[in-house]
Amino acid sequence: MPKYVYRFSEGDKDQKDLLGGKGANLAEMTRLGLPVPPGFTITTDACRAYLASGEVPEELSVQVTTALRGVEEELGRELGAAEDPLLVSVRSGAKFSMPGMMETVLNIGLNDASVKGLAAASGDERFAWDSYRRLIQMFGKTVLDIDGDHFSDALDAKKAARGVSMDYELPVDALQELVEEYKAIVKEHAGIDFPQDPRSQLDMATEAVFRSWNTERAHIYRRREKIPHDLGTAVNVCTMVFGNMGETSGTGVCFTRDPSTGRTGVYGDYLVNAQGEDVVAGIRNTLSLADLERLDKASYDELRSIMHRLETHYRDLCDIEFTIERGKLWMLQTRVGKRTAAAAFRVATQLVDEKLITMDEALTRVSGEQLTQLMFPQFDDNSSRDLLTRAMPASPGAAVGYIAFDNDEAVSRSQKGDSVILVRRETNPDDLPGMVAAAGVLTARGGKTSHAAVVARGMGKTCVCGAEALEVDAVAKTLRIAGRKEVLTSEDVIAIDGTTGEVFLGEVGVVDSPVMTYLRRGLDEALKAAGDDDTRELVTAVDRLMRHADEVRRLEVRANADTPDDARHAIHRGAQGVGLCRTEHMFLGERKQFVQNLILASSDAEREAALAALLPLQKGDFIQMFETMNGKPMTVRLIDPPLHEFLPDLTELSIKVAVDRERGELDPADEELLAVVRKSHEANPMLGLRGVRLLLTMPGLIELQVRAIAEAAVERLKAGGDPHPEIMIPLIGSVRELQLARERVEHVLQEVSQASGYALDFPVGCMIELPRAAVTAAHIAEEADFFSFGTNDLTQTTWGFSRDDVEGSFVGRYIDDGIFGVSPFETVDVDGVGGMVRLGVEGGRSTKPTMKMGVCGEHGGDPESIGFFHRVGLDYVSCSPFRVPVARLEAGRAAVKDKAE
Ligand code: PEP
Ligand code: MG
Repeated sequence: MPKYVYRFSEGDKDQKDLLGGKGANLAEMTRLGLPVPPGFTITTDACRAYLASGEVPEELSVQVTTALRGVEEELGRELGAAEDPLLVSVRSGAKFSMPGMMETVLNIGLNDASVKGLAAASGDERFAWDSYRRLIQMFGKTVLDIDGDHFSDALDAKKAARGVSMDYELPVDALQELVEEYKAIVKEHAGIDFPQDPRSQLDMATEAVFRSWNTERAHIYRRREKIPHDLGTAVNVCTMVFGNMGETSGTGVCFTRDPSTGRTGVYGDYLVNAQGEDVVAGIRNTLSLADLERLDKASYDELRSIMHRLETHYRDLCDIEFTIERGKLWMLQTRVGKRTAAAAFRVATQLVDEKLITMDEALTRVSGEQLTQLMFPQFDDNSSRDLLTRAMPASPGAAVGYIAFDNDEAVSRSQKGDSVILVRRETNPDDLPGMVAAAGVLTARGGKTSHAAVVARGMGKTCVCGAEALEVDAVAKTLRIAGRKEVLTSEDVIAIDGTTGEVFLGEVGVVDSPVMTYLRRGLDEALKAAGDDDTRELVTAVDRLMRHADEVRRLEVRANADTPDDARHAIHRGAQGVGLCRTEHMFLGERKQFVQNLILASSDAEREAALAALLPLQKGDFIQMFETMNGKPMTVRLIDPPLHEFLPDLTELSIKVAVDRERGELDPADEELLAVVRKSHEANPMLGLRGVRLLLTMPGLIELQVRAIAEAAVERLKAGGDPHPEIMIPLIGSVRELQLARERVEHVLQEVSQASGYALDFPVGCMIELPRAAVTAAHIAEEADFFSFGTNDLTQTTWGFSRDDVEGSFVGRYIDDGIFGVSPFETVDVDGVGGMVRLGVEGGRSTKPTMKMGVCGEHGGDPESIGFFHRVGLDYVSCSPFRVPVARLEAGRAAVKDKAE
C-alpha cells in the first residue's frame, strides 16, 4: 500500500519532493526537538493520484485516520469533540514555495457543539465564536467556491449595525448572529449545509487544497517561476495554536538576516492578539522583535535561540513563522528564506566569514540570474515619477527614451543620438534592428516568452511586455493609455522598469548599478563610487564570488562579438576570447552593393572586381578585431546566411519593375536584378543555400574571406601583434563538405604565408548545428581542428521548426501544455538537442580525444544550459558580451556541483 501520510516526527528536510517544502521543514524542526504543534503531512503523491483520477485514493482516507488518531492520543484531545476540542489547520505546501497561490483553511473541527467546548476550554467565548465564523468564511470561500464578498459584506453590515469599526470590537452575540448568517450564505450559494462533521471538514479541505494546485493563478505563477506543472502539492494538517487569545498571545514572521538587503541581524514583525493572516493582511501596524522582547522576554529569548539554532542547522538565512499562545512559543514554519539578489551575494560571503559554509558552497548559493539582476541599470531613487501603467517585467533594467513607433524611427533617432523606447503592439523578427537601436522595448501584447521578451533578455535589453492598457496606433504614431486622457507621440519621453514592469511618463533618472560599475571599472573604483556600507559589502561579495568562480571553473568563457566595441566590452567583463565572430554583418549597409555585384557578376572580370572591392574592407575589419583581441583566440565564422539577405525583396522589386515598365521607365539593371532575385528565391531560406553550401558554390567567396583574415593577421604580426584567428565553417552536414572547404582555406593560407614569410597555421574547424553533423561527428572530426555547437540552428533543425515562425505562435501554448518546460530557445532542450550535442562530443572525441569543443548558440549564456555544457564535457561557452560575467559565475557553479557529486 503506498504511504500517503507522514507524521511530522517521521520525515526530514530532504524530503521536499514528497512532503513539500513546508512539510519537510516542519518534520525537520520536529526532529530537532523544537516546539512544533503535532500534525502530519499528506504527500504530493496523494495529490498527483487525486489530480490524475479525480478521486481521493482510498488508502489516503485510511492513513489519515491512523495519523489523526496518533495526534489525538498524543494530545489527549479529539478532533471537533464537544469538550476541549482539537482543531487543525489544513495548509498547502508544494516543493517550491508559491506564496499565496494555493489554499489554507484554519480552525477545522469547529461546529455548533465544539464551539461551546472551545469557549469553555479557553475561557473566552468571544474567541471561540470568532474562530467559528472565520472557519465558515474560509471554508465557504476556498472549499465551496463561494464568492468571498458575500461573507465580507455580511461582516461589514454587522459592524455597521453594532456601530463598531473593527472586527475584534464585535461582541459575542453579534458573532453568534454572524455564524448563523454565514451558514445561510453557505446554504444559499453552495446548496448544502455547512458540514458539522469534523472529519468531513478535514477531507473536504484536503481535496480543496489538492484542487488549488490547478487554479489559473497557480498556473501563471508556475510558468513565471519555471516550476513544473506536474509536481502537485502536499497538504499539512497541523494542530491549531492560537495567537488571538488575548494580550499574551500573538503571531509573527521573522528572518535570521534581512532578506531584502542582506544585512546581518534578525529582522521580523510581530502582531499581538492576532491570527496568521492578520500579519500579512496589514490590518494593524506590526511590532518589531525588539518590541516583543519588551512584551514577553521569555518567548523572545526562546525565539532568538531557535533562530540561531535553525541558522546553524540550515547554514543559511531562514525565514520563520511563529505563534505565541498565552506565553507559549510555537514554531509554525521555517524554510531557507527567499531573498533579493543583493542579499544572496552578501549572505553567502557573510556565512563564509562566519565559517558556516565554504567558498564552494557560497557559489552554489548565488546564481547567474541574480547576477544579471544586479547588472541592470537602475532608476535613481531620488527621481520623481508619474506611473502610467504596470505590466509584465520581461527583461530587467531601467530605460528612458523618446517613444519610437517603428524600426526606422528607432534606428534613425538613435543614430542621431536620441535614446528611444521602441513601443509596439507586439514585436516580430523584423523589429530586431529597432530593438538593437532602442534603450528598451515596451509591448502591449505578449508574455515572457514572446519574441520581444526572449530577444530582449538575450541582448540584456530592458523590456516590459503585455501592457494591455496601451493603445498603440503605429500608423498615426500615437499612444494612449486606458483611463488617461493624454495622447503621446514620438515627442514624448517614457521610462520603463523591466524589474517591476512599471511604465512612467517623462524622464526618470537612470544610474549604473554598483555591480555594473564593478564589472566595468574594477573593485577599487566601485568601492570608491559606493555611497554606503551596504553597497560596499555587496560589490566586495560579488568580487569574491566571481574570483572564486574563475578559480574553480573548467569551462572557458568566450563572447560572441562582431565589432571591436563588442569585443572590448566582452574583455572588460572577463571574456577569454571571441567564440563567434559572425562575418555577415560586415557585408551589410553600404557594402551590400558590393555583395550584389558579386552575385550578379556574369564574367570572371566582374567577379574579380567585386571581390577586389570587398577585400580591403573585410581586411580592415579583421585588423581592428585582431588588435582588440590581441593574444586571445578569435573564432571567425565564414559567411552563413542565405543569399537573399543581400538582395532586394522579391515582391517589392517585382512591383517596382512592373510599375516602371508600365511607365516606360524600366531600368534594364533592375530587370536583370529581378531575374537573379527570382532565381535565387527560396521557399525555406534557412534550409536552403546558406552556410558551407553557399561557400562551396559561390566562386571566390571563401578565398576572399580567408585572404582578408590571413592578410590582416600578417599586418598585425608585422606590427608586433599577436593574432589568433580560428577559421570556422558553418552549417556542415557532411565531412566531405568540410574537406572541400578546408582545402580551399589552406590553399589561401599557404599562398599568403609564402608571400609574407609568416607561418599561418590557423586552426580550421566547423560548427555542429545540424543533426547529421552530430550523428557523423566522428567522421567530421577527421577534418576539423575544433567543433563549435550552434545550438540555435541545432534547436531549429532537431525540432524541425523555425524560431522566427514558432516563437510568436505556439511556444506559449506548448509551455502551458507541458510540451516545453521553458522555451527551447532560452534553455537548451537537454533530452533532445542536448542529446545531439552529446553525440557530437562523443563522436568527435572518439576520433580526436583532445579536440577543443565549445558552444556559441545563445544557450551559451543561459545559466541552466551552462550546467549541461559543463557536464557534457565542452571546453568553452561563448555568449553575448553582456552575459559573460553570468557565464563565468555559472561555469564556476557547475564545476562546484560536479565536484560535490
Ligand atoms: C547557431 O546556430 O547556434 C549559431 C550560433 O549560428 P547563428 O545563430 O548565426 O545561425
Ligand atoms: Mg547557426
